[in-house]
Amino acid sequence: MTTLDGRTRLATVETPDAVPWDGPRLAAQLAATGPSRQWRSAYDEDLATELPTSTPSDVAAAADRARTAQQEWAARPLDERRRVLLDFHDAVLDQRDRLADLLQYEGGKARLVAIEEVLHLALTARYYARTAREVLHHQRRSGIFPLLTRIDQHYLPRGLVGIIAPWNYPLSPTISDGLAALVAGNALLLKPDLQTPYVALAAVDLLRQAGMPAELWQVVHGAGERVGAELIGQVDYLCFTGSTATGRIVARQCADRLIGCSLELGGKNPLLVLDDADIEQTAAGAVRASFSNAGQLCVSAERIFVADRLQREFTDAFLAKTRAVRLGRSLDFEYEMGSLISADQLARVESHVADARAKGARVLTGGRRRPDLGPLFYEPTVLAGVTAEMACYAEETFGPVVSIYPVRDETEAVRRANDSAYGLNASVWTGDPVRGRRVAAQLRCGTVNVNEAYAATFGSIDAPMGGMKNSGLGRRQGPEGLLRFVQPQVVGTQSLLPIAPSHGLSPQTFASGLTVALRVLKSLGRA
Ligand code: NAD
Repeated sequence: MTTLDGRTRLATVETPDAVPWDGPRLAAQLAATGPSRQWRSAYDEDLATELPTSTPSDVAAAADRARTAQQEWAARPLDERRRVLLDFHDAVLDQRDRLADLLQYEGGKARLVAIEEVLHLALTARYYARTAREVLHHQRRSGIFPLLTRIDQHYLPRGLVGIIAPWNYPLSPTISDGLAALVAGNALLLKPDLQTPYVALAAVDLLRQAGMPAELWQVVHGAGERVGAELIGQVDYLCFTGSTATGRIVARQCADRLIGCSLELGGKNPLLVLDDADIEQTAAGAVRASFSNAGQLCVSAERIFVADRLQREFTDAFLAKTRAVRLGRSLDFEYEMGSLISADQLARVESHVADARAKGARVLTGGRRRPDLGPLFYEPTVLAGVTAEMACYAEETFGPVVSIYPVRDETEAVRRANDSAYGLNASVWTGDPVRGRRVAAQLRCGTVNVNEAYAATFGSIDAPMGGMKNSGLGRRQGPEGLLRFVQPQVVGTQSLLPIAPSHGLSPQTFASGLTVALRVLKSLGRA
């Protein structure tokens, strides 16, 4: 049997041998001996394998192995750990096409989207390799008594960091977040989504080839409610990316254990078309914002607010560009949009559109499956007349469906954009970037892109990224993305005099002396 990319498939039987890449070797790296679950390719519906899942003792044993490896890893000089990330960067670029194939096979995404994800991973590896020394460097802080009190602050790794990952971007959030934890001296215990284990295994495999100790990063496999909960029971910190509903569950589990967590959750992201926006550029940007990765992107736009003045012109241009999106599957750059990842995801998209239609919304374009292209294809869809009674008004659809709303002016656009339980990303289009930044400051979203859909902030690894309101806690990327994986430790060394009455001083005299010292320090302007 030949796959769509023209390669010979080893078999269509349900064993790891069936996958057209190094399947058996990767599968053997899972810390899993329990009952098998089926994995099925979103790209090629005939391609399926069985993979073992992790039992509670598999998860516990994997955690032990990772903790043991962490002792040696944390003791290595930071420069050695940075070197592993730099070598990984090169390996990712060398293996770019293989990783992109895997992303497409697992997720059904279009080629360019897959390549962008791979490049983003390499970019992140270089960023943390280059900046870790500056962010994690040992610092001297002011002591209570100048000269007498020396304060040293350094950062200790948390130990074992758990990652629970979603299926939509199995490299970019998942492995990228892990790189920051790794360079800081941590071990990792990762649970990829059931639908995307292979690409995660391939990336961890490349890290081993780049010099990471073999047992330092363990991968477990299985259903979230079971294996995810076991993982949380083992780790010292959790880095979770997924839906807001699951985020609440895992946050409660972390609270019970008194461990920290970062939560990268869902969104209902607004795109604002201000009355001075360039129509062509904005329409093209709105297509990227709404339909990249078939809308299965945490930062993609699902609500477009258009200034009345541009309503007709923008809608026409946007619909024309949406209808021109090339839909299909191939392992080259022929198509701009691939399929959805699963039947569940397709059902969710269909139910949102059916609900909106039944309650009076108009489908301006799209609104149907495309079984002629593959079982999981759905057309890019634009809705109008969406009201608060419809599920797609406030709930995340997480598919290629966007609604257009007319607004009188900028004030109404900002008010309606902020009228959401979420606050992940926003996109503002205007002929005046200063105006765009002024509007951005009024939006309650963790990232705002002016005259870009999402890539300006997403691709700028030096800038923290994350959500406000129900979109999450904590930040990935930037120094914040690294500092969440360490704990500051402060060492105070006192010399000559104790911080207590001594040398015959009475407590009263000591207290008065301290009071005078505070007044003097303030008048000298010292902190
Ligand atoms: P999900 O919450 O269903 O699953 C995410 C992960 O959590 C999976 O690995 C799953 O197995 C696991 N899980 C499920 N239930 C669990 C439980 N009870 N305990 C522990 N783990 C559990 O999310 P999804 O459908 O895979 O991903 C889509 C969602 O992720 C969307 O809402 C999207 O917006 C969000 N997302 C956010 C970001 C971001 O950076 N903010 C990035 C990507 C995706």
